[in-house]
Amino acid sequence: MRFVATVTPVHEDGTECTHTGPDKTSSECTGRTGYRASCTGGTCAWTKTGKRSSTLAEDGTTHLASHLTASAGRR
Ligand SMILES: [Zn+2]
Ligand SMILES: [Zn+2]
Repeated sequence: MRFVATVTPVHEDGTECTHTGPDKTSSECTGRTGYRASCTGGTCAWTKTGKRSSTLAEDGTTHLASHLTASAGRR
């Protein structure tokens, strides 16, 4: 099982912002106010929200490292 940490932009109400390009200026987009990092690829439900994507990317890397440590320990 391979875990992947992804950082997604989110709106103020916490919903995922998938608007790109011209959609970003459409009325459907309420504006990006932050980012959410989440762990995908397994049963892990780790998520973290924040204002800066770079910080969350680091948190995601740190989180993935904990998976690697855990699997190495089981060997
Ligand atoms: Zn949006
Ligand atoms: Zn995870």
